[in-house]
Amino acid sequence: MEIKKVFVLGAGTMGNGIAHTFAQFGYNVVLCDAFEPALKNGMSTIEKNLGRQLKKGTITEDQMKETLARITPTTNFNDGADCDFVVEAISENKELKFKVFADLDSLVRPEVILATNTSTISITEIASKTKRPNKVIGMHFMNPVPMMRLVEVIRGLSTSDETYEIVKSLAEKLGKVPVLANDYPGFIANRILMPFINEAIWALMENIGTVDGIDEVAKLGFSHPMGPLALADLIGLDTTLAIMNVLHQDLGDPRFRPAPLLKKLVAAGHLGRKSGRGFYDYSGEKPVPLKF
Ligand code: NAD
Repeated sequence: MEIKKVFVLGAGTMGNGIAHTFAQFGYNVVLCDAFEPALKNGMSTIEKNLGRQLKKGTITEDQMKETLARITPTTNFNDGADCDFVVEAISENKELKFKVFADLDSLVRPEVILATNTSTISITEIASKTKRPNKVIGMHFMNPVPMMRLVEVIRGLSTSDETYEIVKSLAEKLGKVPVLANDYPGFIANRILMPFINEAIWALMENIGTVDGIDEVAKLGFSHPMGPLALADLIGLDTTLAIMNVLHQDLGDPRFRPAPLLKKLVAAGHLGRKSGRGFYDYSGEKPVPLKF
């Protein structure tokens, strides 16, 4: 079956980037979010990011128009029914994802592959909520999706070779580099990245350095393009906490316990860039590091 129409579920930080990328590479996209304001925000982010690409000269004005025209935004889940491929990018919450996969299984044709962009949740467990576990796979894009070349491809226990090959070549068609990962909490990327970010938050809590001090050390000392606290703000502190919770619970090792300051910021609704405040304040022209 040729993949022409893709159902992207969730229009948040990742979903809008995934929709943007598929549409830019010629796929028709149905972009669905359960919440109208999130959908509107997602569409305006796509337009803004395409505008940036246009300014840089990496796409033409026609390409920008065509890309936008290929995306159909909706809040109606049933609008995804005739899609040929699904990428789920809703909030990092096990119960939500389990329900959505059971619903997707009833919605789309039995031969359609159901991919999840989850950062940590078991692909095998998600697949068990469907009658097609051989067609369920992790397709883990990196943030920001249109810019980042890596896609982790995660096989669950029952993912078939055929499903894996299709997703691997699909990632390549999007100009990405697929890397195979095994189905363990955090896969490769977040098993390494999240404890690093979490440790930076512990270091901040223990007053070893300030927000900008810690980020400067990572940038100048480790040649990272962005410090761990700025990166946590970009990822979203709620998503960061959700990932740490899964690592902690599923691996059962206290070294993965989320930093209390991370929990506190999430409880206060300070979720990073998406809420305008996290480790930095984003209300002005430039992010301002906050004091803790
Ligand atoms: P987000 O909070 O920015 O967006 C999630 C969106 O899902 C929201 O707009 C919400 O309204 C929507 N949603 C929730 N339940 C829904 C439902 N039942 N149906 C339709 N829409 C629903 O989250 P995000 O950062 O985009 O993360 C999405 C997924 O991608 C998560 O699994 C996350 O772990 C993963 N991920 C995130 C990053 C990152 O840097 N943020 C990177 C890689 C993977």
